[in-house]
Amino acid sequence: MINSVCKAVLFLPVEIQKYVTRNIWFISSPDDAWAFTFRGSDIANRHLIVISDELLKQNEQQISYTILHEIGHVMLGHENSIGRVQTQTEIKRQEVAADAFAKKYFDF
Ligand SMILES: [Zn+2]
Repeated sequence: MINSVCKAVLFLPVEIQKYVTRNIWFISSPDDAWAFTFRGSDIANRHLIVISDELLKQNEQQISYTILHEIGHVMLGHENSIGRVQTQTEIKRQEVAADAFAKKYFDF
């Protein structure tokens, strides 16, 4: 998983790479544990991107694109549906913007 994240992040300009490495945690199924526990304070003021096992089965382009899309949500200040209901219009607007971010930096 770490190699996939590094490959995706390398598509980004250095200033965004610095923000990502300081402010975003990436997790997937850990190789060395069956489960993982976080305390609320562990993630305070940072973002957490969860990478599914299913994504890691896809080709490299899909993996990088999806990681860049998720980083786009962070960089664009998007909100999620945890703790509040988002309208379909808001969700669609955020998804289109995150796709535009990924396409801006990912060279197909
Ligand atoms: Zn999205």
